[in-house]
Amino acid sequence: MLLEVERLEASYGASQALFGVDLAVGEGEVVALMGRNGMGKTTTIRAICNLTPPHGGTLRFAGTSLKGLPSYRVARLGIGLVPEGRRCFPNLTVEENLVAAARPGKWSFATVSDLFPRLAERRTQMANTLSGGEQQMLAIGRALMTNPRLLLLDEATEGLAPVIRQDIWAAIRRLKGEGESILIVDKTLPELLPVADRCTVLENGRTVWTGAPDELSTA
Ligand code: ATP
Repeated sequence: MLLEVERLEASYGASQALFGVDLAVGEGEVVALMGRNGMGKTTTIRAICNLTPPHGGTLRFAGTSLKGLPSYRVARLGIGLVPEGRRCFPNLTVEENLVAAARPGKWSFATVSDLFPRLAERRTQMANTLSGGEQQMLAIGRALMTNPRLLLLDEATEGLAPVIRQDIWAAIRRLKGEGESILIVDKTLPELLPVADRCTVLENGRTVWTGAPDELSTA
């Protein structure tokens, strides 16, 4: 397995949010992390990146323990995060945002532009002048520019206009087709389930179910 998460626990101050999250993402696999609002999806993703440091359980990435590693080291090991709220540098252009993140590999300004032609069209525009959907494309593009081995996509299409959502889902399907490994959170199940190889469902900070998407409706 590329990512192995076992019995993960994490808290915000005195308030515990994760009580035992188990999940795994294999090489080339797309795993959907699911659950209602407040069940711990974002916290799980933040804990994997050590943005909310976990205080229990184990996290292994490509056989290496992530325990105690600062977030930049987690990123350097090959985990590309597209955070909820799609943070980009607002006063840099689209191209500068992308190039600033670049590390060697198949993802470059050219290949990201091919995935998201809108970014190429807006390459000289400041990130803060982009629509929400374009900012999300930029956030995904930035994460890809690091040439990660695993992409973490938190709320991939939340709050975006329907047309642009379709563009983003099309890009996600293409990433899956190209064999990218992805852990994805999104509430649009009709789009999410067909791209997922496996689903992990959280309830109150715990994994309560893992299985194939077609088993979900009967679970
Ligand atoms: P959503 O779909 O609403 O984003 P989620 O499944 O991603 O939900 P989390 O955001 O991980 O859930 O929240 C898990 C729990 O942690 C919730 O009880 C939430 O209220 C709490 N929580 C989240 N962020 C913080 C924070 N910054 N400080 C304190 N508690 C928090």
